[in-house]
Order: sequence, then structure tokens, then C-alpha cells
Amino acid sequence: MELAKLTAHEIIKKLKNKEIAASDIMHSLRNRMAGVHSKVRGYVRVSSSAKSGRTEVESKNSGLMGIPIAIKDNICTQGYNTECCSKILEGFLPPYDATVVRKLKEQGVAIFELKTNMDEFAFGSSTENSCFGPTHNPWDLDCVTGGSSGGSAACVASDQAIWALGSDTGGSIRQPASFCGVVGLKPTYGRVSRYGLIAFASSLDQIGPITKDVEDSALLMNIISGHDPLDSTSADTEVPDYTRSLGSDVKGLKIALPKEYFIEGLDQEVKTALDQVINHLKAKGAIFKEVSLPHTKYAVPVYYIIATAEASSNLARFDGVQYGFRAKNLEPRTQNLLIDMYKKSRGHGFGEEAKRRIILGTFVLSHGYYDAYYLRALKVRTLIKNDFDQVFKEFDCVITPTSPTVAFKIKERTDDPLKMYLSDIYTISANLAGIPGISIPCGFTKKGLPVGLQILAKPFNEEVLIKAAHNYEQSTEWHKMKPEF
Ligand code: GLN
Repeated sequence: MELAKLTAHEIIKKLKNKEIAASDIMHSLRNRMAGVHSKVRGYVRVSSSAKSGRTEVESKNSGLMGIPIAIKDNICTQGYNTECCSKILEGFLPPYDATVVRKLKEQGVAIFELKTNMDEFAFGSSTENSCFGPTHNPWDLDCVTGGSSGGSAACVASDQAIWALGSDTGGSIRQPASFCGVVGLKPTYGRVSRYGLIAFASSLDQIGPITKDVEDSALLMNIISGHDPLDSTSADTEVPDYTRSLGSDVKGLKIALPKEYFIEGLDQEVKTALDQVINHLKAKGAIFKEVSLPHTKYAVPVYYIIATAEASSNLARFDGVQYGFRAKNLEPRTQNLLIDMYKKSRGHGFGEEAKRRIILGTFVLSHGYYDAYYLRALKVRTLIKNDFDQVFKEFDCVITPTSPTVAFKIKERTDDPLKMYLSDIYTISANLAGIPGISIPCGFTKKGLPVGLQILAKPFNEEVLIKAAHNYEQSTEWHKMKPEF
């Protein structure tokens, strides 16, 4: 039996029954990586052994008894490099753990060095903007994985990870989950601490699980959720036991279908898969109605103003002084050695997309443009949120495709940033509104690429996502399909 192919909840049973030891899991993952990693390239750093003491389960409460987890390269892991797949953070060794990592350790999840590839600073929708090069989609190695958590999604999909963490600012958990045929959940803004997540856009970022099925997603949510005094935006509200939402039925569940998400630009095969989901859930007693989210058309421009504004400000700290990379070819005779060092370190340290966003963000925040762009975008953001509030007065959840297309070819969109930005047209609104969303597999195209279904719910109502997603998943076989190697 290949343990690497199992879900965490299946492994937990085996551990409890003493059929296996925790060390067998990592052994199995390593065997799997040996055959698959060079093709998929989902990991950017894998250590052959854990740092001292970490192989042992650190917790007394060891329900999870040493199951390893893959972690996106923007989530701080003490003692293991965390570089956001950017040259500017080359060699950065965090002196502390992100709160989510600390919580995982406390529950007995093993933190090995299993850091996954991503778009530089999470800027992207394809994991091509990484200083380590792209990750390849396990279902078709010529295609992208989606992004920016493409490494995490690909490692889970190709059984090189049991489960993983990603981060989602505009879709970066859900869209790669959809492209790779796995489950990705973006929690409500504030549900999960951002402490130790290297910031992209602080008002939008959330860490969340990428897993093989919905049950594992619920298990991980139970561990990582909750208030954290180290993150002033984390919510001090009670965390339910998400596993209690597993196994519920969908009879009478009121589901909204926003008409703005089912229009031109939506791939026919994706639409067909969604139609089948709707019929399937209707037959189980769910109630569907078309609704309007009228400000949807502004989501992409509003997002790219707010996200780049916040990114330009967050990235100002990377200047060659405190972290990572510092340019060496400085001009000793220059009048201003410090400025030369800043310019060269930033100039050589950041990739093209990071520079594009810093320039755009600085522009929209600059005097004379702040009111016209940034302030206006904030106002429209409120309108987008109001649209959802309105719908959730009557409905339990909203169903949409996760992305208008399935995985596209590597390099297909790299020369056209606008086309790339449109890959997130269905995921971005949830971040702007702060609401939770999940993507689960709901079919395959004729060419064998996975299609994702997105479910959205009102703030702090992740239980509805888990309920609906688990019910659908358990009556289909999509989550059991595996890419061949
Ligand atoms: N693709 C979007 C962007 O490039 C979202 C990224 C994300 O969620 N981190 O900004």
C-alpha cells in the first residue's frame, strides 16, 4: 500500500490502529517524490531529514501523530528558508513560525522542510512567476497548475504531499485547486491568523488548506482557525468543529446562481460540468435560483488597484538591508552609496511581475491619483460586498465555476498580463468581500483536465461550504481520480 496516496483522515485511522508508524508516511512520500518531483517541480526545498527534534511529534495531543504537511514558500517556518520564490528573499531564514505552523506543531502535524513553489510573492495565476521556474500540472505536464499556490496544489494532486497550506489573496488557493483537481478552501478574512504569512495585500490575504478531499479540509480548518493576538485583524469569534458539518444533506439548501458568472468567456466544457452539478444537487433537494451580483464587472479592476497598492507598500521593506539578497556590484565612488544599494538590490532582486505591481501600486497611491483610483476602488469594493450581503439575506450559498477555463498551456498567457489577470475573475470578489470560498473537483474536460466548482458563503460560515462540498463530493467520484505517472 502506498501511504502517499491516502488522505490524512485515512492515515489517521491506520496510525490509531497501529498498522503503520509515523515515519512510514515520510518514507512513502519520498519514494513518490523520487519518481514524480523532477516532472512536476512542485517543491522548491525539501530536506532529507527534519531539523533536530522535529521528526518526533512535539505534542502530547498527537491525534495527527506526525503526518507531514507541505507549506507554501510565503508562510514562515522557523529554521527553514522562506523566500516567497523571490530572489530578493534568497537565504531568508525566519526566526519564528507563522501562527498556523505553530498550531500544526501543537497538534502533532510534522513540520519537515517541504516548501512549495509559488508565483513570486503570490503575484500570479499560473506559478510561472517564480524564481525557480514553473510547476507543471500533474494532469498534463505542458499545462500550468494555476497560481499562486500552484506548488501546493500540484504536490497534493500528484500524491507528493498528504495535504498542504496555501494562501489566497484573489484566488490563489481555489484556482490552482481547480486546475489540479483537488480541494482548496479560502477562509473568511480574519478566520485564520496571518501572523508569519509574508504579506502581499494585507486586507485580502488568507491562509487556507489544499487537500485531497473535503474531510481533510475540515480537519485542517479545525487546527489553523481561531483568534491570534499577534494578528490584529484576526477575529475573536468562536471556531466551530468543522468536521461536524461532514455528512449533512443538502435538502432545502438555498443556492444562488449569479448570472454574471455564466456569461461569455466561460469555457463550454466548464459550463457543461457546472450544469451537471446543478442538476445533481437539484435532484438531492437543493433549491436554485438565479440572482444578480451587479458590481461583479468591477471586481478585476478594483482588485488590481487595491492589491497592487497594498503590495507596493508591503514590499517597501525589501531593500537589501534587513532581509535576503543584497546587490554586490555597488559603485564605491558614487555620491550616494545607500541609494545605489537600494536600487540595485531591488532592481536585481524582484522579478518582472513584482516590479510591474510595485509601479502600478505606487502610481495609484500617489498624490493626485489617490482619490481617482485608490479611494474610488475602496468605494466600489464596498458595493461588491453589499451585493453579497444582499444575496446572503435569502440564500445559504452561491455556486459558480472556480475559473472560466481549465488549466492553460505553460507560456500561453505570460506575454499578456491582462489575459492572465482574467483567470481570477470568479475568485477575486470573495477576497474583496472577505467571504469564504471553496473549490472542489466537479468533472474533467475531454482532454482530461480537471474542472472546479466554487461555493461561496457568508462570513464565518465555512460550515455551509463544507456541508455542501462534502455532500456533492461523496456522491461523485471526481476526488478519487488520480493523474498517471
Ligand atoms: N492571481 C491573483 C493575482 O495575481 C491572485 C493571487 C493570489 O491570490 N495570491 O494577484
